[in-house]
Amino acid sequence: MKAISLLGSTGSIGTQTLDIAAQNPDQFRIVGLAAGRNVELLAQQIRQFQPQIVAISDAAKLGELQAAIADITPQPILLTGEAGIVEVAQFSAADVVVTGIVGCAGLLPTIAAIKAGKDIALANKETLIAGGPVVLPLMQQYGVKLLPADSEHSAIFQCLQGVPDKGLRRILLTASGGAFRDLPVEQLAQVTVADALKHPNWTMGRKITIDSATLMNKGLEVIEAHYLFGLDYDRIDIVIHPQSIIHSMIELEDTSVLAQLGWADMRLPLLYALSYPERIVTHWEPLDLVKVGSLTFREPDHAKYPCMQLAYTAGRAGGCLPAVLNAANEQAVALFLEEKIRFLDIPRLIEQTCDRYHPQNRSHPTLEDIIAADQWARQEVLKASEAVMVAVG
Ligand code: MG
Repeated sequence: MKAISLLGSTGSIGTQTLDIAAQNPDQFRIVGLAAGRNVELLAQQIRQFQPQIVAISDAAKLGELQAAIADITPQPILLTGEAGIVEVAQFSAADVVVTGIVGCAGLLPTIAAIKAGKDIALANKETLIAGGPVVLPLMQQYGVKLLPADSEHSAIFQCLQGVPDKGLRRILLTASGGAFRDLPVEQLAQVTVADALKHPNWTMGRKITIDSATLMNKGLEVIEAHYLFGLDYDRIDIVIHPQSIIHSMIELEDTSVLAQLGWADMRLPLLYALSYPERIVTHWEPLDLVKVGSLTFREPDHAKYPCMQLAYTAGRAGGCLPAVLNAANEQAVALFLEEKIRFLDIPRLIEQTCDRYHPQNRSHPTLEDIIAADQWARQEVLKASEAVMVAVG
């Protein structure tokens, strides 16, 4: 029985993690929940899973939450704000922490969990993309495991089981191609938020669905793969695979290629991150390759999707630049979701911001350096976007 603290319980990763816990009550127990501001859903989750500790990020919602669970006994410990989320992350009863918080907000609680000796089921990209230079040494120091819950990294991780050290030559990250994979490049300038939110294969949160449409998601995954599996950027490639059945592949030194396949369902990588190294029986629909029919592959179009190259460039530069890239992207996507900038402004704003960044401490940034770089990048995007926003009118 594994005890789980779940950060971001009302989001897409959170609700799917709770599905898994509900389906496997003899394997998993939820001891902690942390959410942003969705009181109604959080209260329902507390009722169903009876965690010992709960944090709601928005302190103004505490009264509402207390009222919603007033009849429950025993009452969980209720906390608020970032400090509350940190407490859930380092809660003594938890064995593993699922980090389903989107954005840099997930970084500090994840670090707290590592320092408390918790294994991490990693569903927060920023932990490694922004925090990689700080987080990796901490993992070593505290002897905790980082178990990828993202489908691509889970696929690579699964393929690597049994591969000897130095056996890995290359990583092939598969990409669905996002909402606009079949749209001519000229039409990208006019796409709307609603268009970009229509992902062809995966059901995910809003921010990551936009990242899939720009292919920044894949660029960020390249950086994440670099930190997780220790390969140089020259040995991490992207291949477009529209069916999203192969979740990624590895090429070994003898040219053998291993792939992990499954339906496009986030619950499978999440389950493996929680059950590793065990395999748990599920009653999910088995993959039917005859039903799938064909698996196809294409070269990624870097002219149409500049975000991939921006990510490779930032990744190679290292230090705080991946944090700058990530924060600039987060801010630009937020502005796009608010319909304040156009779709193609997203890569433009990110590129400008990365170009303007002058690193002071290139190779060994501290957590403070990373957070400062993140804050700086957001401000830069906000400033630069004012000109664009006027143009949108
Ligand atoms: Mg992914």
